Amino acid sequence: MFLTENANKIIGILTENGYRAYAVGGCVRDFLLNVPCGDIDIAASSLPDKTETLLKKAGIKVIETGLKHGTVTALIDGESYEITTFRKDGDYKDSRRPDSVEFVSEIESDLGRRDFTVNAMAYNNTDGIIDLFGGKEDLKNGIIRAVGEPGERFKEDALRIMRALRFASVLGFEIEEITKKALFENAKLLCNISYERIFAELTKLLTGKNAVKVLLEYRKIIGVVIPELIPCFDCAQNNPWHIYNVYEHIARSVGAVRADAELRLTMLLHDIGKPIVKTTDENGVDHFKFHAAVGADIAEKILKRFKVSNELRDKVTALIRFHQSVENVDEIRIKRWLSKIGVEYTRALLEVRTADLKAHNPAKTGYELKRMEEIKQELEAALNAGDAFRISDLAVNGNDLIALGYHGEKIGEKLKKILRLVVDDKLKNEREEILDFLKKEK
Ligand code: ATP
Ligand code: MG
Repeated sequence: MFLTENANKIIGILTENGYRAYAVGGCVRDFLLNVPCGDIDIAASSLPDKTETLLKKAGIKVIETGLKHGTVTALIDGESYEITTFRKDGDYKDSRRPDSVEFVSEIESDLGRRDFTVNAMAYNNTDGIIDLFGGKEDLKNGIIRAVGEPGERFKEDALRIMRALRFASVLGFEIEEITKKALFENAKLLCNISYERIFAELTKLLTGKNAVKVLLEYRKIIGVVIPELIPCFDCAQNNPWHIYNVYEHIARSVGAVRADAELRLTMLLHDIGKPIVKTTDENGVDHFKFHAAVGADIAEKILKRFKVSNELRDKVTALIRFHQSVENVDEIRIKRWLSKIGVEYTRALLEVRTADLKAHNPAKTGYELKRMEEIKQELEAALNAGDAFRISDLAVNGNDLIALGYHGEKIGEKLKKILRLVVDDKLKNEREEILDFLKKEK
């Protein structure tokens, strides 16, 4: 039905040899939802070394990826398939991965250890869909429900708490009541889970279609993984520009930006500095001076804790630091920004500011949002016209300045000055004109 030729081939080889083999988990779910599926994971009754021998005999390349957990990876035609022996998890300590696994010969206990009913189905062409926990029904009704007793399952592995939120967001599903209650009761156990694993789920949550709803409904759990957000939860913004408190503004701004991990993470953290700098004037109006710089520092600490790449951390913190500098839309000189932070960051900064504005008081931001669109067009026009915004774009270079008698640091300084004038349209980026200007200056 939905299996690729190669997945069928692997399942075929194993079943011909007397074993049972199925596609399991996410791919079955995605097939039933009629959405493209990522990897096809296969579960089989054969022990890992047996799987390896049989596939190799059939001419398939196999690498041992996680023998201890029963996993080998088959490589065919540039595709890769993980094949894991049916297993039952051993005891869990510290709400983390199990200490041991036990291989079993039936698919039933393998499905029983999986997290949610919608992820606990198996399929092959002979047996069709195997659905022991009502996964199909839950898929139809848009429900995330733990397999078995939710509290126990979250105590076994607290990462499942974040996974529940992730699937609710990505699939746009509701979390079933008893599962939901157990999420809140066990949220603190997330402290036992590594930051990297939490971050992987958080990123998927943020880019999901129901991210705003999940961030709002499950803010207590978000507060466990990012405690710095807690002061934002009920931080009022008595200010004509805002109709939401800081956290609700944050959540809505996440939903207002493109579903890109960097941008959504930036929105989640962009106003995290507000509660710290908040002041209220004599008219009862709230102000948040310097919240961007303060927020960027907090974000940096959080991202270090999550052990994200330096590249991601630098980008997110820079966007947060600058998001307020483009507050006054009438003062945005696009070529200056291009010159200051480059094309990629400028584009992202405009997206960030637009999403930020969209989560303000809509009665006030019509003009600003219209200007943002104009500024984005100005950006594309400047790029298409090949306007200069880097020193290397200038019609003169260091050698020209040396020929005019400049040396040392003066060369760089002069080039920077010329670039500033060109960017501000005070000097044309034409060789003769710039040389004339330089000669006059000398
Ligand atoms: P995606 O499409 O994002 O890969 P997925 O459902 O395949 O979604 P994975 O993290 O790849 O998610 O996990 C594969 C399968 O393994 C899940 O569908 C689920 O059956 C099971 N699983 C993964 N993590 C856990 C966990 N922490 N506890 C129990 N079962 C899990
Ligand atoms: Mg997967």
